[in-house]
Amino acid sequence: MTEPVLEADDIVQFLGQGAGRVQALKGVSLSLKGGELALLMGPSGSGKTTLLSILGCLMTPASGTVRIAGKSIEGADPEALAKLRRDNIGFIFQSYHLFPTLTAEENIRLALDVRGDTSRRAVEAARNVLARVGLGHKRKSRPLELSGGEQQRVAVGRAIVGDAKAILADEPTGALDAENGQAIMSLLAEIAKDPTRAVLVVTHDPRTVPFADRIIHIEDGRIVGEESPSQARKASHS
Ligand code: ADP
Ligand code: MG
Repeated sequence: MTEPVLEADDIVQFLGQGAGRVQALKGVSLSLKGGELALLMGPSGSGKTTLLSILGCLMTPASGTVRIAGKSIEGADPEALAKLRRDNIGFIFQSYHLFPTLTAEENIRLALDVRGDTSRRAVEAARNVLARVGLGHKRKSRPLELSGGEQQRVAVGRAIVGDAKAILADEPTGALDAENGQAIMSLLAEIAKDPTRAVLVVTHDPRTVPFADRIIHIEDGRIVGEESPSQARKASHS
């Protein structure tokens, strides 16, 4: 039995002020187990990014509970939340979010530097991860010298180098062509083979479906259903 890596229980969240205030999440529960890659799919504005932000300890919900490796994060102050995030969560964004002045290797190392780990081991870990994402030969390149697909590989490297157990990706293939999108998805699927690690991918892209173990659908702030990739493929062919 693999343990849940990340759990959300009845999450409610409001965003905005005054007349612009909206209920972005209306009681969302989900559980991600080690060894699985789940897709979170839903229309624009359905609450996907908000849910990812809450699962990733970037935002505190109005109500509901988030548990990381079985432990509730309730009551954690901002500093404690930042530490939980650094130690447990790896983020990947559509637009890579790399530091333009740093090399590929330095961008990955930064994830360890912010934890105060500037040791030789950190340098080695960054090099191993670069090789794992297929960029061993580009370690001194800066983001502008890399293609979009390569920049996203660096971002994947940065997300996994600290041994985060939950990898959260918001439209990671959104800016990539088909070939590079597939390459990133197969890298994420490879990462999710580790029975201690879970990957959650927010996506609109039907080409990501074959890489998934589960597909969770969200609409208007609520989880409305879940299916297996084979069910999703059948539905799209009917
Ligand atoms: P998705 O990622 O699925 O497109 P979001 O989680 O970004 O959706 O947004 C959910 C809802 O919250 C939407 O109705 C959106 O317009 C609203 N929203 C998002 N961010 C804010 C904000 N900062 N202030 C007010 N409303 C927001
Ligand atoms: Mg979004």
